[in-house]
Amino acid sequence: MGKLTNSYIKAGLKIREATSNKSDYGHAFILAGRRGMMGAAVIAAKAAARTGVGLLTVGVPAEERFILQTAVPEAMLFMREEDHYPLDRFSGIGIGPGIGTDEVSEEMLVSVLVQSRIPLVLDADALTIISQNKKLFSCIPEQSIITPHSCEFDRLFGMHKDREERINTARDKAREYHIVIVLKGPETAIITAEEVYYNTTGNAGLAKGGSGDALTGIITSFIAQGYAPDVAAKTGVYLHGLAADITLNEQSMESMLITDVLNNFGKAFE
Ligand code: AMP
Ligand code: MG
Repeated sequence: MGKLTNSYIKAGLKIREATSNKSDYGHAFILAGRRGMMGAAVIAAKAAARTGVGLLTVGVPAEERFILQTAVPEAMLFMREEDHYPLDRFSGIGIGPGIGTDEVSEEMLVSVLVQSRIPLVLDADALTIISQNKKLFSCIPEQSIITPHSCEFDRLFGMHKDREERINTARDKAREYHIVIVLKGPETAIITAEEVYYNTTGNAGLAKGGSGDALTGIITSFIAQGYAPDVAAKTGVYLHGLAADITLNEQSMESMLITDVLNNFGKAFE
């Protein structure tokens, strides 16, 4: 058991060498968004782009491509219906925000689960699909990170009375499936087979749609850059909350947008 402190996170941050180039910082792939939910893809992609990754590709439905390309010109695009899933070229893969839970999304998720040779970041609709077809648990690559809020957690693992009960279950499930579980909420817990860490940053300004999508982008970016899954999860959760705390200097908890939070990532890294 531990608490995430500034010095603990700082000690794990990789140094950006003066002579480095983009190929030193990995290539993240984010599968997010669908018609009417492209904000999730934009937020996840912006979050990845703001957290150091060298290259970023976002998989979107072809008809929605202009939204992503305009909002995040730093990202390359992959048309979900047209292109194959060339997963080998990516060093970090995140899937779920706003993809929907229909058959097409399920097929896409299964194809990624089965093909990926690296740990995945699984969130939102990806978790809902898994909770509707629990056999998929056995396809999750080892060391993958799942990021459920408490409702998603209960859909995956059954109803729980409170957070303490959820954390106990999460410890068992992290061992059983060899995964990292990020149980989101106030004081997000990062649970691995060996340990539980509690976050010390963040505020209720994050209690809004879009906050979790940003976290998916951030953790995927850190995985792509070569951080170990537990470090990627801890660092992502801590910085996400810290940037939200810094945002309170210019916005209230009511007025804060997740876009404001992403714009404060620079200060959070500092
Ligand atoms: P999601 O429910 O998927 O949008 O994720 C919400 C994100 O915001 C998670 O990272 C939560 O930890 C964070 N969050 C939500 N409510 C609070 C709160 N009251 N205090 C701190 N963080 C929060
Ligand atoms: Mg969410």
